[in-house]
Amino acid sequence: TAGVLLHNRCRIMVQARLDGDIRFLKGVGEKRSEAFKRLGAATPRELLGLYPRAYEDRTTVKKISELALGEVSLVAATVTAPVSTSYVRSGLTLSRVVVSDGTGLARLVFFNQPYLNRAIKVGVRYLFWGKVNRTGATPELHPTDFTPLAEGEEPTGAILPIYPLSSGLTRKAVAAAVASSLELLEREGVTDPLPDGLVLEQRLARYSFAIENIHRPLSFENLDLARRRLIFDELFYMSLGLIMLKGRREGKAGRVFPKISLSEFEQRLGFSFTAAQRRAAEDCAADLCSGSIMNRLVQGDVGSGKTAVAAFAAVQCVLSGAQAAIMAPTEILARQHAVKLAPIFESYGIKTVLLTGKMPARAKREALAAVADGSAGLVVGTHAVISNSAEFASLGLVVCDEQHRFGVRQRAALSAKGRDTHMLVLSATPIPRTLSLIMFGDLDLSVIDERPPGRKPIKTYAVDESYRSRIEEFVKKQAAEGHQSYIVCPMIDENDEEEHRSVTAYARSLAEGAYRELRVGILHGRLRPEQKEAVTTAFASGELDLLVSTTVVEVGVDNPNATLMVIESAERFGLSQLHQLRGRVGRGDAESFCILVNSGGGSVGAERLRVLCKSEDGFEIARRDLELRGPGDFFGSRQSGLPGLKLASLASDMELLSSATAAAKKLLCEDRELTLEKHRGIKEKIAEIFDTETKGNTFN
Ligand code: ADP
Ligand code: MG
Repeated sequence: TAGVLLHNRCRIMVQARLDGDIRFLKGVGEKRSEAFKRLGAATPRELLGLYPRAYEDRTTVKKISELALGEVSLVAATVTAPVSTSYVRSGLTLSRVVVSDGTGLARLVFFNQPYLNRAIKVGVRYLFWGKVNRTGATPELHPTDFTPLAEGEEPTGAILPIYPLSSGLTRKAVAAAVASSLELLEREGVTDPLPDGLVLEQRLARYSFAIENIHRPLSFENLDLARRRLIFDELFYMSLGLIMLKGRREGKAGRVFPKISLSEFEQRLGFSFTAAQRRAAEDCAADLCSGSIMNRLVQGDVGSGKTAVAAFAAVQCVLSGAQAAIMAPTEILARQHAVKLAPIFESYGIKTVLLTGKMPARAKREALAAVADGSAGLVVGTHAVISNSAEFASLGLVVCDEQHRFGVRQRAALSAKGRDTHMLVLSATPIPRTLSLIMFGDLDLSVIDERPPGRKPIKTYAVDESYRSRIEEFVKKQAAEGHQSYIVCPMIDENDEEEHRSVTAYARSLAEGAYRELRVGILHGRLRPEQKEAVTTAFASGELDLLVSTTVVEVGVDNPNATLMVIESAERFGLSQLHQLRGRVGRGDAESFCILVNSGGGSVGAERLRVLCKSEDGFEIARRDLELRGPGDFFGSRQSGLPGLKLASLASDMELLSSATAAAKKLLCEDRELTLEKHRGIKEKIAEIFDTETKGNTFN
């Protein structure tokens, strides 16, 4: 009996559970479980949260006589002759099979399947799935998949999900694991996280139905219902979380910092604010002395002068004895801010310190000490440093520059630290109203829709490769006139070793080739901070004629002497990102230019790039960008920074967004803090979406 007991206990231990380790799932095991974990599915429940990225329509079985060239089709046919395999060359075998379905004969061609004759038998009927490569008397199909049909079995089509794959996982393995996870879901039971009333009122599908059908839709109608339900959920949780975040912060008392004189600030700055800057500055000043916490987003196009507005707010805060922190997305930008702001703050008797992750240990220790003992009034640094390691003596205001890298999660994390600090967010990405509603639903908005006087338009041209030599001449001409140029190369994945090598190699080839008479610097994300600084400083001080760079210049380097921006393979960038990059030039008095090189975008790409030639209005460009690319790509290759949105498209699901927001408000009227038992599922979902970095502090 002991043996039986032991045996039983072992079985209990390895029983798969929805929230257990995925390796206990039927057919997964140790090795595959690693691959699943790489995909982000450590448990069966998480696997069910990985939705297919597309579906193959295998619902209709085509007759051989109806096959159309180029279409991927499903055919049910009987094999009429044995497989014949030929070795074309090493590494390539072709197997041919002739099949018939009563309407005609078709030839099937398989590549590199030498053992096909064991799998495919004469006289047996199969479902074949493949692309039609030739039509005519005997059409040719290149099957990628086939399954035998039993005697007399009617072929039923299906909608096949396509999952993101990681190496070590086949499609079949994922599908099987999903199927077992769905079984578990049914066995353990799912409670719908939304209350019945809401589901009925919004005419939503049930949660279990939605999960089942997003993975294994029986029909496209079911798939639509499932998608609608899951998209509603995403938008609902997102709205709910943002409204709660806003409510909590609004409810908090903020320290009161009396107003200071704007004209005196302007004098120290050396220029007068534009009307739009003044409005934004007054909004901030009013927030800071209102007694409630400031939650403000200042949105303004590149070069609209957001930094000065933030600096004004920071002075107001520090003069009352608190500290202000300005967070920049990159080391370069942090340094630049510190250098520019220090003298202005100095004139008020305020000490500025720089704090970045990669600064030398001793300098960092000193900076941290000045932050901690309060002797540093203004702290300028990178996001990570300020939000993690620094202990402030008396932090009164946090400014986050370049919002889209400082997403809602980070905002939630910051406010979860329990510091009732005022928060000011600066964004150069002009986000269309609808999108900003959900991205910044927790913030009040000031818009700077005006540029400092005297800016000349940047002449923008979209050209193709045939202009290569003219571009080179133009770059040399700028240098001859004592001006400087940028060449930006696309790099889609900052972490990709190969891209880095190719970007660096390209930069070298330019420096040693077409531009060998020029002084060329190279800037990319992988350089050590001191190398970056050296290059940036050399460029800013005019020691370089040309800076070949990745998009790290997008938010950085302010050099009024730079007059030309060349963007390689511009078709690979989002329009808003191109607009940001273009904003690196045109900062001085001289006429400036931007050349967008369309390398592989064809006429569609060229059309898109023309939007930039015609407009310098960031909002207009953003609107077109959103229209043309959808929000997933809105920020170029980077994610939108919105957690929890997997299916929802902010471009096409706006209608659902407004009902989700309305439903969220209604729910909060009834249960402000989601304390009712029936809202527990919702509360958990929100904690999951907003809280992964704060370990459950914000919404519990
Ligand atoms: P952004 O909004 O892109 O962050 P910045 O704050 O970097 O813009 O300002 C861009 C440049 O314009 C800076 O060199 C800044 O000193 C200058 N600037 C800002 N406001 C004014 C103004 N009202 N008049 C003249 N120059 C200004
Ligand atoms: Mg800026």
